[in-house]
Amino acid sequence: MADKRDYYEVLGVSKTATQEEIKKAYRKLAVQNHPDKNPGDKAAEERFKEATEAYEVLGDEKKRQAYDQYGFAGVDGQSSGYSRAYADFSDLFTSGSFSSIFGDLFGGAFGGGRSGFGGFGGYGDSYGAPRTGQSIRVNTEITLEQADADFKKEVTYHHEVACEACHGTGSKKGKNSKKTCPTCGGAGQLRQSRGFFAMAQTCPTCGGSGYVIDDPCDICHGTGTVRKNQTIRVTIPAGVEDGQDIVLGGMGNAGPNGAAPGDLYLRVNIRPHKYFLRQGQDLFVQIPISFTQAALGLEIEVKNLVGQTIKVDIPAGIQNGELIRVKGQGLPKYKGGSSRGNMYIKVQIVTPKHVGMKGKQILKTLSEALGEETSPSPVRFDQD
Ligand SMILES: [Zn+2]
Ligand SMILES: [Zn+2]
Repeated sequence: MADKRDYYEVLGVSKTATQEEIKKAYRKLAVQNHPDKNPGDKAAEERFKEATEAYEVLGDEKKRQAYDQYGFAGVDGQSSGYSRAYADFSDLFTSGSFSSIFGDLFGGAFGGGRSGFGGFGGYGDSYGAPRTGQSIRVNTEITLEQADADFKKEVTYHHEVACEACHGTGSKKGKNSKKTCPTCGGAGQLRQSRGFFAMAQTCPTCGGSGYVIDDPCDICHGTGTVRKNQTIRVTIPAGVEDGQDIVLGGMGNAGPNGAAPGDLYLRVNIRPHKYFLRQGQDLFVQIPISFTQAALGLEIEVKNLVGQTIKVDIPAGIQNGELIRVKGQGLPKYKGGSSRGNMYIKVQIVTPKHVGMKGKQILKTLSEALGEETSPSPVRFDQD
């Protein structure tokens, strides 16, 4: 393995490439060099293998980090053969002719355990090892006001927990009825060679766990887990962004047969506010004033997000659409201590529709005093 090419070089991506770019680069190389498309072409086969190996490492954040830090030594012996890469084909090739090639080749090997959103519900990197439980995502909604300080919220969700009847073992009599799976001999997968292709398929008898339960529990039917409705009290940190995930470690689904549970990703959605528009930590609000107030200047009272009254000076001669900054009246920074954003008041100058006879007289006098004239200027559409 002396002349191994750098994995980034193999995939033709930069060291800072995103997972999406890496996946794309690999997909391209795999399609080009796939042995079924290049029968007898040893060089193509080598390139395919090389690219697959590179993708196995760079496509996995943990392995990629180890590789970045220690080079090949960091990922040596960690390679799980091609099985993991094959599993990933399920989301790489979701359509087109290539998926049918792999569909023919691997049949029903994909799909198990891969849930709707990418990366969730994984069963760990290698087959046969104890599976960890699935991570799950739950949505919750709060108001913008509730994002102003740490907010405690009760969240109810469904997840898989260890079965109490069998203590998560899945068997009626306890642990002892676990037997090595006769189909796979405990490996959890079935391997078949086809040229250099080692095809790995999750064992259909044991579902990849490597063992079977002789006398399954009546409650959980041998899985060791049951579905439960659970209510938890979560502290949503101040300054949370709309769409942000709060990760609650170990609160996802229990793993089968006592394996570690997955995580709960609590997605926080923030309801739009009636008046305030949020941009990061800053808040924007529009305040209408009359044109005489704009000309003379005034002090106004506005309420901040949490309802406290704040006095704000509007300087004389302010123009329509100008922003007045009120320091420190925005939202707190997420996990950022006492640091807060600003509130911006956008002044909207309102022209009266009816001023009455007396008003008209005064305005005419004012207009003459100002010596008002109109002259054309170019139209600009780039302002609000
Ligand atoms: Zn098996
Ligand atoms: Zn049970």
